[in-house]
Amino acid sequence: MMASVKIDIEQDTILVGIGASPGIAIANSHLVNRARVAAVERRIAPEEVQAEIKAFDDALSTSRGQLLEVKKQALTEGLSDHLYIIDTHLLILEDQMLVGETKELIQKELVNAEGAISRTLGRLRKVFDSITDEYLRERRSDIDLVGDRIMRNLVGEVRDTLNDIEDTVIVVAHDLSPADTVQMNKEKIIGFVTDVGSRTAHTAILARSLGIPAVVGLETVTSLVPNALPMIIDGISGTVILNPSQETFREYLEKKQRYEYLEKELEAFRTLPAETRDGHHIALRANLDLSDEAAEARELGAEGIGLFRTEFLFMEHDVAPNEEEQFAVYRQVAEEMRPHPVTIRTLDVGGDKFVPEFNLCDELNPVMGLRAVRFSLKEGRLFKSQLRAILRASVYGSLRIMFPMISGVGELRACRQYLDEVKQELRDEGLAFNDSVPVGIMIETPSAVLIADLLARESDFFSVGTNDLIQYCLAIDRSNEHVAYLYEPLHPAVLRALKQVCQAAETAGIEIGMCGEMAGEQLYCVVLIALGFRELSMNATNISRLKRIMRQVSLQEVQEIFEKIIDLPTAADVNLALEDAMRKRFPELFNLSGI
Ligand code: PEP
Ligand code: MG
Repeated sequence: MMASVKIDIEQDTILVGIGASPGIAIANSHLVNRARVAAVERRIAPEEVQAEIKAFDDALSTSRGQLLEVKKQALTEGLSDHLYIIDTHLLILEDQMLVGETKELIQKELVNAEGAISRTLGRLRKVFDSITDEYLRERRSDIDLVGDRIMRNLVGEVRDTLNDIEDTVIVVAHDLSPADTVQMNKEKIIGFVTDVGSRTAHTAILARSLGIPAVVGLETVTSLVPNALPMIIDGISGTVILNPSQETFREYLEKKQRYEYLEKELEAFRTLPAETRDGHHIALRANLDLSDEAAEARELGAEGIGLFRTEFLFMEHDVAPNEEEQFAVYRQVAEEMRPHPVTIRTLDVGGDKFVPEFNLCDELNPVMGLRAVRFSLKEGRLFKSQLRAILRASVYGSLRIMFPMISGVGELRACRQYLDEVKQELRDEGLAFNDSVPVGIMIETPSAVLIADLLARESDFFSVGTNDLIQYCLAIDRSNEHVAYLYEPLHPAVLRALKQVCQAAETAGIEIGMCGEMAGEQLYCVVLIALGFRELSMNATNISRLKRIMRQVSLQEVQEIFEKIIDLPTAADVNLALEDAMRKRFPELFNLSGI
C-alpha cells in the first residue's frame, strides 16, 4: 500500500487528539517544519531607528501581498464563504496596537524590529489568554500566525509551501495556518495532524469545509512521527494510528468506505421532509451565531432558525451595533429564511461571553452573575433598541422573540413590559411591526423547569437550552475540563427535568423545542422525540444526520426505546442502554466510532 521506511515505531501505536474535521485518511506522513522563527532582540543606535521601521513596514507589506495571493486562490477554489478568515489576518496586519506599539518600541526603547514585534505579540497573547470564551481565545492563534508571517518576512526565511507535494500524504505539522490549508494541494494532501489547535480554530473550520480529515491538539505528534511513516487518521474520533498492522489497515479501509458511503447518502436527505416513518413532523432548525451563516443553513435543509445568538453581533465589534445596524441584520435573516420562522434571542452576554464595550464587572461567579436578561433589564436602553430592531424587522418574515436565562415569572413579565413599551413607541412613530410576534423563553435554569407550568401560561413557546440547563442542574461548569466527565445529558435528573418541561408545555398547548447541543446529537434524537420535542435546533451540518434517523422510526418504536431507558438509575446505565438499542436498530450508523 505505501512505500516502506525504516520504522522504529511500534505497530498500531495509537495517539488521541481532537477530531477537527471528520473522515478517514490512510497514507504516509509528510513532515512540515512550521517551527516558529525565534526573534533575536538587540538594542539599536538612534540612527538605526528609521532603517528598522522601514524593515518592519516592508515585512508588513510583503505579508499583505502574500495574504492577498492566498485570498485569490481561496476564491478560485470556491472558498468564498471563508474569505473572512484571510481578511481577519489582513486586518491584524493593520491593527493599531500591533503596528503602532511595535514602532513605538523601536523608536522609544531602541529595540530592533524583530525584538519589538516579538514583545508586542507577547503582550497581545496575554490579553487573549485571559479571555474565557473559547471561540475568542482561539483567535489568539490568528495573532500567532500573522506574527509568525511578519517575522519570517522580516528575517527573510522562506516557508515550505504545501503546494508542490508529489505523493499522496498526510501532513504532520506543529501548527498550520488557514493560509496553509487554502494553499494545500488537495489532490495530494488527504489529511493533516497537528500538535496544537482546537475544533474552533480557523484551520479546523477550513478543513471541514474542504472535507479534509484532520486531527489536532496531539501535542507531540511532530516529535514522534518520522517522514514517510504509514499512518491512519480518524477525524471522527480524533484517533491517529501510526505504523498500522495489516489487520488495522483493512479495518480502517472498510471504515473509510463505509463513512464515505454514509456521507454521500446524507446528501439525499437535505430535501426530504423531516418526519418520522409514520408521518409526524419534527421541525429541524439551525442555530445561528453569525447572520451570514443563514444561507448555508437553508441549503443544509434547515426549516428556519431556532436560535439566533445575537450576542455575536455585539462581540464582533468594538462598539455595540445600534438599532439601525441590528435591524438590517435581523431583516436580512428574516428575508433569507422566509417563510420559515427565525427565533431571535435577545442579548445573552455575560457568563463566558464577553463584549469589550460593556465592561462587565469582574464577577466571582459570572455564569451565575449579571448575564442574559438580567443584564438587558439593567441596561434598559440597550434592551429597548434591540427589541425595536427585532420588531421593525418582524414585518419582513416570520420572526419570534426569545428571552434567555429566565428564572422566574417576574423576569418574564419585566421583559414583556419592555416589549409593550417599545410597541407603543413604534405605534406612536408610525413604524410597522407585527403586533402578534410570538414571545418565548429559553428554559435553562432549574427554577424555570420547576415552574414551567407557570411560565407556560405567559409564553408562546419554550426552547430548552441544555448547554446551560445541564450545567446548572448538575452543578457542572460547562467550560471546566476537570469536571467535563460529569457533564451528562442523559443523567436521570436531566431527563426528568426535560420530561417536566415537555409536560408543562403540552398541558398549556404551547410549542416546545430544544436548541442546546443535545438537540443535534443523533444518539439522543429518539429520546427527544419520545419526550415530546417537536422542534430541534442545531448546527445545520447535523440536520441531515437527524433526518436519516427519524425518517426510519415510528413514534411507537421511539416510545419503546424510551421506555427501556427512562427509569434507569445512572447516566452510564442510560447511555449504555440507549447505545445498545440504537446499535441494534441502526447497526451501520452506530458501530462506526463517533458518527
Ligand atoms: C444553551 O444554554 O443550551 C443555549 C443554547 O444557549 P448558549 O449555548 O448560547 O448559552
Ligand atoms: Mg444558554
